[in-house]
Amino acid sequence: MSRSGLIIAVSGPSGVGKGTVLGAVEKALASSDPASVGRSISATTRKPRGEEKDGVEYYFKSTAEFEKLIADGEIIEYDMYCGNYYGTPAEPVRKMVSEGKVVLFDITIEGSLALKRFFPEDAVTIFILPPSMEELEQRLRGRGTEEDDVVRARLSQAKLEITRADEFEYIVTNRSVEQAEGDILSIIRAEMLKQSRHDETANNLE
Ligand code: 5GP
Repeated sequence: MSRSGLIIAVSGPSGVGKGTVLGAVEKALASSDPASVGRSISATTRKPRGEEKDGVEYYFKSTAEFEKLIADGEIIEYDMYCGNYYGTPAEPVRKMVSEGKVVLFDITIEGSLALKRFFPEDAVTIFILPPSMEELEQRLRGRGTEEDDVVRARLSQAKLEITRADEFEYIVTNRSVEQAEGDILSIIRAEMLKQSRHDETANNLE
């Protein structure tokens, strides 16, 4: 029997496809057992993009509202990214972990490292790399929802972020959604099978 849930903290540059890959991982896990998986919905002060809805992709907050959440201790970790706050609401995560779920996070580098410090036994950090910088730029421009200066800011941020991949436990290159999804599912499976996560040993099997 597994002790508790698993926190899968996934970071990588904007445009690398974290959201799409995590969506595929969530679907694959839910197809075998819908109750086994949870996804943390962050709070942010950035404005909704395209069809994004409050409470689905994010909880959209004003700066004052976000700062109140921090002051009230309702945020486990938070980070500033391109001028906006992003943070993880504490209660849903604690609940999902105690229920034994695999909880998926799309989160900044500092956010992943903070989760690892907060949940040293249960958090696993994964960095997603693009196949190349050219490919990343194409994906960022192809999204078509950002102004040119925003794309430039995200690209220079991406170059800085990639130099920090070695602070993560696992590295996955997103050559295709299927391959990156498969790699993350393999990591989850191996982490679930770790000796330290199991109560029973050969000695106490009946
Ligand atoms: P986007 O604006 O593209 O949705 O997200 C920008 C960045 O914020 C991404 O790198 C995403 O991973 C990160 N992010 C989203 N939610 C959180 C969170 O709760 N905490 C932290 N630290 N980063 C987050």
